Amino acid sequence: MYTPPLARLIEQLQRLPGVGPKTAQRLALHILKRPEVEIQALANALVEAKKKVGLCQVCFHFSAEPICEICRNQNRDQETICVVADARDVIALEKTREYRGKYHVLGGVISPMDGIGPEQLYIQALVKRVAQNQIKEVILAISPTVEGETTTLYIGQLLKPFTKVTRIAFGLPMGGDLEYADEVTLARALEGRRELE
Ligand code: ZN
Repeated sequence: MYTPPLARLIEQLQRLPGVGPKTAQRLALHILKRPEVEIQALANALVEAKKKVGLCQVCFHFSAEPICEICRNQNRDQETICVVADARDVIALEKTREYRGKYHVLGGVISPMDGIGPEQLYIQALVKRVAQNQIKEVILAISPTVEGETTTLYIGQLLKPFTKVTRIAFGLPMGGDLEYADEVTLARALEGRRELE
């Protein structure tokens, strides 16, 4: 149906999240119509981002530096850490402009079905971080799915000996995703956080 280089392009595009066969075909045909210099810039941006962006050594958010901008920012509250599953959640929370503390990105949630146990996530690093620093509060902001709840309770138990642990109050339906909550909902959820029992 497609000449081989085009078939390969479509195949690669289709590996991206949210891109089905139709979208992949549309994107591929669009790419073929654009000037080569523009497509070269796209290819360069892909490779450069992949090469240069790593994880912050402190919070595991994406960063082009060993320590990310949020961790380096002295104007932020150093004694509060908000724990999230994914880097997308940091971006969502930053958009609310309500939160001025630090973050810790777990890199996922505990999910035995998918073979993800606590050791696959940055949980030990979090415990160490909380134990070794003056932390007044850890806010758990993990989506209330079954796996998210397991993760929240697990981390809560580990951190309670060291500091106050709260969880954000989701106005979201059970299973709702942090990423899809609008800014107002998320800001309210943060404001209405309560101490983990
Ligand atoms: Zn950081």
